[in-house]
Amino acid sequence: MKKVTVVGCGAYMDSGYGCPGEWRCLKAAALGEGKFDEPVQVTGFVKCECPGRAMVTTVGMGAKLSEIKPDVIHLSSCLANAKPGCPYSSAEEMAKLLQTKTGIPVVIGTHEYH
Ligand code: SF4
Repeated sequence: MKKVTVVGCGAYMDSGYGCPGEWRCLKAAALGEGKFDEPVQVTGFVKCECPGRAMVTTVGMGAKLSEIKPDVIHLSSCLANAKPGCPYSSAEEMAKLLQTKTGIPVVIGTHEYH
């Protein structure tokens, strides 16, 4: 089973109810729905903090300390789609940076639930 790290938008998570992982990202990952094409193991859940400078380092540190390197990184749907969007960086820019720095493929989005 693929191992996945999810990166959520901390600004959104702090103002939502029950996030991180209140159910949407974790349900989609467990069932292989939304942006997951098969059921996966979520082995990391990283909260981005404005302005996002430490996000890549935190993902790398999580993988190092847990000794589990994810096969794929997903930027959460709130990070990718919330309106108003991130004022610092687009999801595409974040995905490119993460992929370049970690060498791990990045998928934009997690679930498609409402
Ligand atoms: S930098 Fe952007 S993605 Fe990260 S927590 Fe702030 S608003 Fe969210």
